[in-house]
Amino acid sequence: MIDVRSDTVTRPTPEMRQAMAAAEVGDDVYGDDPTVNRLQDLATKLSGHEASLFVPTGTQSNLIALLSHCQRGDEYIVGADAHTYKYEGGGAAALGGIQPQTIAFADNGELPLDQVAAVIKEDDPHFAKSRLLCLENSQHGRVQSLEYMQSAQAFAKQQNLILHLDGARVCNAAVKLNQSLKTVCQCFDSVSICLSKGLGAPVGSVLCGSKEFIRTAHRWRKVTGGGMRQAGILAAAGILALTDGYERLHKDHTNALALDKLLQGVHGCSVKSAWTQTNMVWVDYEHDHSQSLPEFAASHGVLMSVGRNTGRLVVHRDISQDDIVVVADVIKAYLHQA
Ligand SMILES: *Cc1c(COP(=O)(O)O)cnc(C)c1O
Repeated sequence: MIDVRSDTVTRPTPEMRQAMAAAEVGDDVYGDDPTVNRLQDLATKLSGHEASLFVPTGTQSNLIALLSHCQRGDEYIVGADAHTYKYEGGGAAALGGIQPQTIAFADNGELPLDQVAAVIKEDDPHFAKSRLLCLENSQHGRVQSLEYMQSAQAFAKQQNLILHLDGARVCNAAVKLNQSLKTVCQCFDSVSICLSKGLGAPVGSVLCGSKEFIRTAHRWRKVTGGGMRQAGILAAAGILALTDGYERLHKDHTNALALDKLLQGVHGCSVKSAWTQTNMVWVDYEHDHSQSLPEFAASHGVLMSVGRNTGRLVVHRDISQDDIVVVADVIKAYLHQA
């Protein structure tokens, strides 16, 4: 099957499985796992932050970042469609007493800073304390510019807000911007990076920030489920994700552009080409094909998810140039007979 539902579906490469099998391990709860320590050191070096923490998921990573930065009765400002707000079970509110204040993403994936300014609350007992601004880059495949991130950094400083990046796909953003990961990550007080998306690891995320922040996050990792023991087996895959996986991401971006091109002008759908910046292609459909298109595609060897009138096709390391053509052909064949 050609699976373009998400970049989370990548399978570990043979090299990854080999590295996992050969990984030197210890008990990470004692800080003894050399491979986990190597992964954390690598994330620290690449992000330019002081310290890093290996966590099982991006959701837990964002959650413990919010728990570390904020107190009960604080609020964080976040995009209305942001993963951290919408797709993480309301964890910050449920477990941390941290209230979200949402604002809509602009069409380029930015949170307009004047709109952020407008929702920041005065120091008054009527209001929650505005503590943190959370950005997401890439957001639905769209990349915010370095200039925007730098102005967000200056703005946050001026407004006394902590700035966190949900950088699930920040490596895709850095590649697109032709900037080092460090340059991007330096705009933020903390960054969460998923190893298990386009980078290709089976499991894991890393959270990066100051030494003091990571010490607090380590405590919250314990509170939200504890530590993993011989986690070096997973960290070994994470190291390859941050090196080889990172280096090849540009191929996914090229393939996504090729898929975008193949779908241009196809009757019954319209490609949101302005959003094809990294590894996602967003397609609007004239009609609701949310049931029938995935069924048709699956019967032709392609797995895809389609919402009511829009769907995303996600390119990743297990999708070849030939697969791209098959995906486009299947959509064309479906729309032709629909
Ligand atoms: C996937 C994702 C996460 C969470 O990662 P999981 O590892 O699935 O918990 C966070 N933010 C964004 C933008 C994501 O795409």
